[in-house]
Amino acid sequence: MSSNGTRLPAEVDAAPGEKRQTRYEIGETYLGDPVAIPVTVMNGAAPGPTICLTAAIHGDELNGVKVIQEVVDQYDPADIHGRMVCLHVCNVPAYEAQQRYTPIYDQDMNRSFPGSSRGQPTSRMANTIYNGFIRHADMCLDFHTSTRHRTTIYHVRADLQDSAVNRLTRAFGTSVVLDGEGEAGTLRTVATADGTPTITVEMGRGHCFQPDLIEKASEGVESVLAEYGMLPDHPVHWPGWYTTTDADTTKRWLRADIGGLVEMHWGPYPLVRSGDTICRITNHFGTEEQLIEAPFDGLIVGSLENPVVAPGHPVCHLLRLDAANLDEIQREIARGEFDGYQISPAVWHADTPDASES
Ligand SMILES: [Zn+2]
Repeated sequence: MSSNGTRLPAEVDAAPGEKRQTRYEIGETYLGDPVAIPVTVMNGAAPGPTICLTAAIHGDELNGVKVIQEVVDQYDPADIHGRMVCLHVCNVPAYEAQQRYTPIYDQDMNRSFPGSSRGQPTSRMANTIYNGFIRHADMCLDFHTSTRHRTTIYHVRADLQDSAVNRLTRAFGTSVVLDGEGEAGTLRTVATADGTPTITVEMGRGHCFQPDLIEKASEGVESVLAEYGMLPDHPVHWPGWYTTTDADTTKRWLRADIGGLVEMHWGPYPLVRSGDTICRITNHFGTEEQLIEAPFDGLIVGSLENPVVAPGHPVCHLLRLDAANLDEIQREIARGEFDGYQISPAVWHADTPDASES
């Protein structure tokens, strides 16, 4: 593991014992003005590994932006052994537009890594970020939320076959982990293959701050810092966790077969039993309906927010639970650990209408 001697771009790096907050140019606007990301480098007085935190690779995913703001405020270089490199907002043009993809050509930065200095604009920005920061990190946490119109349970996506990623995932300590290599061009897939173990943290939905999730993620960061000796004397919070893989039958998107209006029937906790009605879809006349039932005992890890569907639209993402995990989740619910997960339909109704969709 490298120490905090590895080289970052000189214009952003901090001396040992220093916290430096500045901007780093990753592109140019039509007018030739710089496109620059806000960067905090906190270089501990004591040596240790370098961790990179990234947010808003998708421009409308805000929970991670708030996590990073809190993390950089929470610690002082005197506390840290090693170096924290925080990229507050990665896809600046998408963030300015408050949309997922880079404007105009709808390019997805999280399919653009490691990028190319001769590619299209998003590829160039990704390449500058990758070469400037990610390559120099010993590990990386990349914060996301669900895409527009959906919400997701708080979870991590990671390739648990990679032992370094496995350690990072366990230290971050979410209850739910979706295990798999990930898609080509995602930061976690590319960086992990390149020797920087990286996990994706998925938290709630876009266009808002969800304080309970932000607090959990800040605790996750602290637990990771503790695990790698970057915050000596702090405990690591190991999870009770449920894992599923990309390619098996343990998780399933349940889809609408008719077009119409959706009423969610599950909640307030994201646990359903085989045969429970998850939602009812009716046509606009109310003369036709489809009931979607749980095909197995499961945990709802993703769900539609916009209550209008066409045939084929996913309405919920269900994770199959075995008896042991079912018992564990019931105990967690009883302890209140699922309160504030903000995935229950009751909460969405309380929060809607989402101003951005009106
Ligand atoms: Zn995202």
